[in-house]
Amino acid sequence: MTALWQEQVSLKPFNTFGIDVKARHFSQVHDDDEVREALAQAQQRGLPVLVIGGGSNLLLTGDIDALVLHMASRGRRVLSDDGERVVVEAEAGEPWHPFVQWTLAQGFCGLENLSLIPGTVGAAPMQNVGAYGVEIKHVFAGLTALDRQTGELRDFGLEECAFGYRDSLFKRNPGRWLILRVRFALSHTLQAHLDYGPVRQRLVEQGVEQPSAQAISDAICSIRREKLPDPAELGNAGSFFKNPVVSAELVEGIRGRFPGVVAYLQADGQVKLAAGWLIEQAGWKGYRDGDAGVHRLQSLVLVNYGQASGAQLHDLARRIQADIRERFGVELEMEPNLY
Ligand code: FAD
Ligand code: NAP
Repeated sequence: MTALWQEQVSLKPFNTFGIDVKARHFSQVHDDDEVREALAQAQQRGLPVLVIGGGSNLLLTGDIDALVLHMASRGRRVLSDDGERVVVEAEAGEPWHPFVQWTLAQGFCGLENLSLIPGTVGAAPMQNVGAYGVEIKHVFAGLTALDRQTGELRDFGLEECAFGYRDSLFKRNPGRWLILRVRFALSHTLQAHLDYGPVRQRLVEQGVEQPSAQAISDAICSIRREKLPDPAELGNAGSFFKNPVVSAELVEGIRGRFPGVVAYLQADGQVKLAAGWLIEQAGWKGYRDGDAGVHRLQSLVLVNYGQASGAQLHDLARRIQADIRERFGVELEMEPNLY
C-alpha cells in the first residue's frame, strides 16, 4: 500500500500540548514498506524527516519545514512462552497503554507499573519510559530499527540501547534510527514493585491484600487520573523537567535552608531531587501567563490552556529553569523533545 502524502497539515491533533503548528509535508505510515517509501520520497525531495508517534513528548515551537512521518503501524504478538518467561513484540505505532492492558489480559506480568503512559510502543525506548520504580529497560528484550544512514535493519539488545534515566542511545542520536518494533520479556509470575510513591497505600485503601498485576495497574491508573491532567482536556506533555541527580553536598546545603527537601539517595551516592518539589517551593504551582501555565496539582507539568504557542511554553520553561538555578543552584533539564 502507498501511504497518503499531504501538504500543510495542522499538527494540533498530533501533539498532546495541542499546539497549532503546520507540517509542510505529512505522511501516516502503516508498515515497513510504507516507511521505506516515504523516506525514499523525502530523500528525493531533499526533505528532512521528523518521526512522531503519539506526540506526547514533543514541544513544537514553530511550523515544521520537513516531512512529518506519523507511525501508525499496528500488531502485537507472542514470540515465545516457556510457561514462565514470555517474549512479546509490538509494532511501533501501537498505542502504549492498550498494549500494556493487552499483556495483562494475557496474564503476562512486568508492564503493570507503566500503565496509562500516553504515546506509542515505538517511542517508549527513546527515553526508556519509566514510572513508579519501573523502566522499560527492566523488561526489555530487544528492538528492530531502520538505520536511516544506511537503510539497513538492525536488531538492538539491552546493552546496545544504553538506557539511562529518561535516556537512551536513540535519544542521544536524534533522527538516526527509526524504531519499527519492540520486544519485551514478561513473566507469568508477578514480581510486585509497590514501594514507590503512593502505590501500596492505594491498594490498602482499595482493600487489596494480594495484588495481581491487573490490580497494581488499576491502582496506578487511579492515582495518575487524580494527579495528572488528561491531555484530551488540558494540553500537556507530562513531566516537563527531569528530576535532577546532584551531589550529596549540594543537597545538604539545600536541606540547611529547606529541611523538607524531597530527595532520594541513588546507588552511586548521588541524590535525585524531586523537580516538582523545587518548582512548587519557588511558587510556580498553578502559575498562569496567558494560556501557558504550571499545573495546579503537579508543578512538574506545564499546561496549555488553549492557545499557548510552543514558544510561550518554552519561554515559561526557561524562566522556571533560571529561577530554580538562582534559588537552589540546581540545573533543570527539559524532558520533551523540542522542534
Ligand atoms: P512522540 O512524542 O511522538 O515522540 C517522542 C520522541 O520520540 C520524538 O523525538 C520522536 O521523534 C521520537 N520517536 C517517536 N516514535 C519513534 C520511532 N518509532 N522511532 C524513532 N523515534 C521515534 N513518560 C515517562 O517516561 N513516564 C511517564 O510516566 C509519563 N507520563 C506521561 C503522562 C502524560 C499525561 C503525558 C502527556 C506524557 C507522559 N510521559 C511519560 C511522556 C510520554 O508519554 C512518553 O515519553 C512516550 O513514550 C512518548 O511517546 P510518543 O509516541 O507520544 O512519542
Ligand atoms: P510522585 O509520586 O509525586 O513522586 C515525585 C518524584 O519523586 C517522582 O518524580 C519520582 O521520581 C520520585 N520518587 C517517588 N518515590 C520514589 C522512591 N521511592 N524512590 C525514588 N524516587 C521516588 O511523582 P508523580 O509526578 O506523581 O509521578 C509518578 C510516577 O510517574 C513517577 O515515576 C514519574 O516519573 C512518572 N511520571 C512521569 C511523567 C513523564 O512525563 N516523564 C509524567 C507523569 C508521571 P521518578 O520520576 O524518577 O520516578
